[in-house]
Amino acid sequence: MHKSLYLVLLCLLLSIVSLAQTKPDYSKITLVIHGGAGTITRENMTPEKEKAYREKLNEALQVGYAVLIKGGSSLDAVEATVKVMEDSPLFNAGKGAVFTNEEKNEMDAAIMDGKSLKAGSIASVTIIKNPITAARAVMEKSEHVMMIGAGAEKFAKTQNIELVDPSYFRTETRYEQLQKIKHKEKTQLDHDGGTGSTENIFTEGNKFGTVGAVALDAYGNLAAATSTGGMTNKRYGRVGDVPIIGAGTYADNSSCAVSATGHGEYFMRAVVAHDIAAMIKYKKYSVKKAAEEVVMKKLVDFGGEGGVIALDRNGNYAMPFNSAGMYRGVIKNGKAEVFIYKE
Ligand code: ASP
Repeated sequence: MHKSLYLVLLCLLLSIVSLAQTKPDYSKITLVIHGGAGTITRENMTPEKEKAYREKLNEALQVGYAVLIKGGSSLDAVEATVKVMEDSPLFNAGKGAVFTNEEKNEMDAAIMDGKSLKAGSIASVTIIKNPITAARAVMEKSEHVMMIGAGAEKFAKTQNIELVDPSYFRTETRYEQLQKIKHKEKTQLDHDGGTGSTENIFTEGNKFGTVGAVALDAYGNLAAATSTGGMTNKRYGRVGDVPIIGAGTYADNSSCAVSATGHGEYFMRAVVAHDIAAMIKYKKYSVKKAAEEVVMKKLVDFGGEGGVIALDRNGNYAMPFNSAGMYRGVIKNGKAEVFIYKE
């Protein structure tokens, strides 16, 4: 055969292969979300409260799925989904964030793109309406991965990201939660003469209402996003696991996307999100086996309470938690499901 004919055939073959790679596959698109884990039981829930949570989780799923079904990216889907929950006072992220010991709302957020392994995160911000949007801007519009405090806010301003007065984030429910914890802390310290540990008080009755989303788009790309107000009564400068890439947030097309919620100190030390991804990548574990191994064994041994959502490139997902409950949901083939308790 003539040499140029070979070349033509080769080019044809290459374009067919690349076409097949870019052809969207809508059958696998999946979105999994969480709205925090913790002491969430039927006993301390009212029908009205449960309805409000179910409706908001469902709305978040629908908003993200609408992006995916139109051929939008997993990054756009997780950002849009998390924004719905940040804007709701029900969750500990954006409006409704918990209070620090100094009675402020200080937020952390992170986003990661499983295709490029690019990531962006912000910590300890107080005036950014949607922290997840600022985290994405760090990833896409800066040279950096993480920005904190006043610097992150200055950067957000340059990106025309919506800023608000700190009072926007305040909710009375969260303020009362702080007062209760502070009161208990004081009582215990008075009782122990200042020598006792207050670690349990830090978490007691805590509902880790952090929000997160992981998505798989029609092009086979994974993304993860997490946003939080952190832990009630946290001390000055405390940053949790959420904005630490590999601890509370991680995404890699070659393994999975993970978003976590729980007592951040343990999640950081256990490097939860990356550990799950590593088990899938190196040990060929299924997403379910890997997520359960870390949440139900490693974290339990550490004494860390909480859960994760994890999703792989084939649309397999897991939502394990070792706490009483976890607000969570999934949408796949147009069917949305929302869960709260250990059903
Ligand atoms: N993981 C978060 C933190 O420690 C808290 C949460 O999940 O609600 O900051």
